[in-house]
Amino acid sequence: MQTADIRRRWLDYFSERGHTVVPSASLVSDDPSLLFTVAGMVPFVPYLSGLVPPPYPRATSVQKCIRTLDIEEVGKTTRHGTFFQMNGNFSFGDYFKEQAIAYAWELLTTSEADGGYGFAEKDLWVTVYQDDDEAVGHWKRIAGLPDERIQRLGMESNYWSTGQPGPAGPSSEIFFDRGPQYGKEGGPAADDDRYIEIWNLVFMQYLRGPGQGKNFEILGELPKKNIDTGMGLERVAFIKQGVENLYEIDQVRPVLDRAAEISGRRYGADHDDDVRMRVVADHVRSALMLMADGVTPSNEGRGYVLRRLLRRSVRSMRLLGVDAPTFTELFTTSRDAMKAAYPEVEHDFDRIGRLAYAEEETFLRTLVSGTSILDLAVAKTQKSGARELPGDTAFLLHDTFGFPIDLTLEMAEEAGLSVDRAAFDALMLDQRTMAKADAKAKKTLMADLSVYSAFRAKGETVFTGYDFLTTDSTILG
Ligand code: ATP
Ligand code: MG
Ligand code: MG
Ligand code: MG
Repeated sequence: MQTADIRRRWLDYFSERGHTVVPSASLVSDDPSLLFTVAGMVPFVPYLSGLVPPPYPRATSVQKCIRTLDIEEVGKTTRHGTFFQMNGNFSFGDYFKEQAIAYAWELLTTSEADGGYGFAEKDLWVTVYQDDDEAVGHWKRIAGLPDERIQRLGMESNYWSTGQPGPAGPSSEIFFDRGPQYGKEGGPAADDDRYIEIWNLVFMQYLRGPGQGKNFEILGELPKKNIDTGMGLERVAFIKQGVENLYEIDQVRPVLDRAAEISGRRYGADHDDDVRMRVVADHVRSALMLMADGVTPSNEGRGYVLRRLLRRSVRSMRLLGVDAPTFTELFTTSRDAMKAAYPEVEHDFDRIGRLAYAEEETFLRTLVSGTSILDLAVAKTQKSGARELPGDTAFLLHDTFGFPIDLTLEMAEEAGLSVDRAAFDALMLDQRTMAKADAKAKKTLMADLSVYSAFRAKGETVFTGYDFLTTDSTILG
């Protein structure tokens, strides 16, 4: 089942059940407190929080998401992309827990021939919040799940709130069991690689008060209860396509194959190389989608995240043994895999391509000079028996070679070293303080320069430098 097919089945299912189909919002969220859209519910927050009356009682979407938090997981787990698509169905004071569970179960287990996803009932497990007897009851009645496949978990995993006073409530997650060859028995609580989380149902039913972490009071039931769910499109695709992870699905795999082809290494032959190919495939796609939504590489905020994705791709290709530029091939491949779902990546490709290639060129130069410095420092550190790279090396790399600190950290870690982060931070702080003092001094200098204008205003001058070594203050007047 192709990703496009999974998407279409989703939208058909929920629109046939009275949900308004809402197009994906941009990856650049309207919410100033968020760098990116991290979940399907983000564009609906005004309705879910009750601040704005919802224009429809139920909605559905396939939302583009970026989660930078997951960047270190990419390529190592089977299920984390920095870019992914979240299929969502939402109820604003309309249907609630029972109906949300019934929809999810029906769509997952209806046969492919009848428009569903065709999961076998025996492969599905669920988790619920420990006190949510109501959800347990619905899962038993609607899905006929036996007790042992309904796991009760605590607040950390099965309770949702924004961390602020406002709506809150328990959640219930649905998992697919990949089978004994992928890990140990015991359900999602025991092994999150064998049991893959595919869908999260959030039941917003309470109003919570202020407090930190798990310590807040439930003030009462919400007058209008909401449903917010998110199903990972790529996760369902990876299971339904019978591949090993989400980097091998139809929308991502072509880039992975291209990286293998360019490097002349075979995917599946070496674990570290496989991780690098998966990182390239993921990051190139994420960067493509970010640039299509107007983000450009820079040194802060969203632009820095994009730069980091681009640079990690360049570096992964180098670790695969490729020194030449590769973005022309990788980005056109990713464009071709994504353009059916997102035509803008094709329409806007001239601009996107130019940005990507320029960033690659600059970084390749940086990388060559910086890497030789780093290699020397690593060798010296190892020879001395120390386990930590000095902070001033990290600072030099940052200051002179434009190495972001996270790159230095990663490269040091690969050599089995840590970095004296405290010393690095102190040097950065010094530099900032000096820059401030410098700016102040420059201001003073500007003021001083006014004397030159006053001087010039005096008209013609006679050069006296041959006779006097220092300027006579009377001349300057
Ligand atoms: P996990 O525990 O696997 O990290 P999560 O609990 O953080 O997932 P949710 O916040 O519940 O994920 O998001 C809803 C759904 O979106 C998940 O059930 C999953 O299918 C999908 N999803 C979440 N993060 C990612 C990601 N980084 N890449 C791909 N799909 C994701
Ligand atoms: Mg997560
Ligand atoms: Mg989870
Ligand atoms: Mg979850």
